Amino acid sequence: MRAKVDDDLCIACGNCIETCPEVYEWNDDESLAISKYVNEDVPEDLEECAREGLESCPVEAITEE
Ligand code: SF4
Repeated sequence: MRAKVDDDLCIACGNCIETCPEVYEWNDDESLAISKYVNEDVPEDLEECAREGLESCPVEAITEE
């Protein structure tokens, strides 16, 4: 899987980063979350964490591809 954060939807609540910092992080000015795995697959041992982060998003800004 890959995880993508939609810039237009993210409200910078920080849930995904708190839930799974291995996959999600702040952008440079902490105005939105970004995924470390947009262009490459999430390692298998981080997939569960990545999905928990996805599910923690209150505005459904994260999608799995
Ligand atoms: S949980 Fe959703 S809204 Fe909150 S920082 Fe992550 S992507 Fe943005």
